[in-house]
Amino acid sequence: MKIPFVDLREQYNSIRTEIDTAIQEVIESCAFIRGKYVQDFELSFASYCCAKYCIGVANGTDALFIGLRALGVGRGDEVVVPANSFVATSEAVTMTGAKVVFTDCHPDTYNMEPTLIRSKINSKTKAIIPVHLYGQPADLGAICAIAEEHGLKIVQDCAQAHGAQIDGRHLSHYGDLLCFSFFPAKNLGAYGDAGAVVTNDGELAQKIAMYSNHGRVSKYDHEFEGINSRMDGLQAAILSVKLKYLPEWTAGRRRNASLYDGMLADVSGVVRPYRKEGLAHSYHLYVIRATDRDDLRAWLDKHNIASGVHYPIALPNLTAYRYLGHNPEDFPVASSYQSQILSLPMYPEMSPEMIGYVADTVKEFYSRKTIKSLK
Ligand SMILES: *Cc1c(COP(=O)(O)O)cnc(C)c1O
Repeated sequence: MKIPFVDLREQYNSIRTEIDTAIQEVIESCAFIRGKYVQDFELSFASYCCAKYCIGVANGTDALFIGLRALGVGRGDEVVVPANSFVATSEAVTMTGAKVVFTDCHPDTYNMEPTLIRSKINSKTKAIIPVHLYGQPADLGAICAIAEEHGLKIVQDCAQAHGAQIDGRHLSHYGDLLCFSFFPAKNLGAYGDAGAVVTNDGELAQKIAMYSNHGRVSKYDHEFEGINSRMDGLQAAILSVKLKYLPEWTAGRRRNASLYDGMLADVSGVVRPYRKEGLAHSYHLYVIRATDRDDLRAWLDKHNIASGVHYPIALPNLTAYRYLGHNPEDFPVASSYQSQILSLPMYPEMSPEMIGYVADTVKEFYSRKTIKSLK
């Protein structure tokens, strides 16, 4: 058996006719930039998020950048960001002119640890960006309480968390803005770059829509300078088709995660993803911590199983952030986990047999040697 990390081709095959028809329609109607198809998608995605407004933009990084700018974040400000995320989270902060302030993650959830945030806050702090890493909801209750106490804004990085919930409520119940990416491999993926900002604040929604479209009020009337970061009609039409299937696909990811959880339960050497009643994980990635991670990875590769590491270098340890002068010991959890975390193949179309093959291959690796437990 050969197991890819994701299989976008198989997903396309399952909805091919609908997608091809949608693409054809956009071209026939020449609604290439914004327009009807983007508006339709914005309405349905806002509704999916149980929120009032959705603004389609060019990609997830822009969604974060535009969201921060709309909240007034810029030069002289500071924004708190988790030490383990994709670089876009911190990049968006720097793009506004503000300073990135990293905070370490919780040893079990791998998300921003609320009790560590307070020590990062000073008079320059303007916002916190909780990332729902791998699809695991961040501790928004605690983080929002801290934000409220200090008058800070909450910009959620939901790029990996389409469909994640806390106590049966969508993430839009919390904070000021939600930023999504529709990069092709995300849980809801376009056939190119796309992103969105979701909010319940009408004034903010209008600012974001204008900022993403040259600060435009009408065709050649510009209230302020913005940027060009618009969703295009083709991506919107594709996303509208796929959105209908997202609940089913999310259920498929959760089913597969439960299968992995069961099969990997007694494997010493493996720590499974954190699970807690009330936290509905969207399993963009199924990430374990593994003893002898690199050897396990090579073993999986030898057995035709693809895997990934998200991310091999914690953000403060990247060359890009050397200027901040951090040591890995400043972020002990994120830094020690970078050599332990391993993402196993995870996508809705994976069959129980495929999950079984991956789990068995992991088990076989550890049964061949005595290993130190990470627990
Ligand atoms: C993918 C991703 C982004 C950026 O999205 P793009 O659409 O690729 O710009 C931001 N944050 C996280 C956590 C992501 O996984």
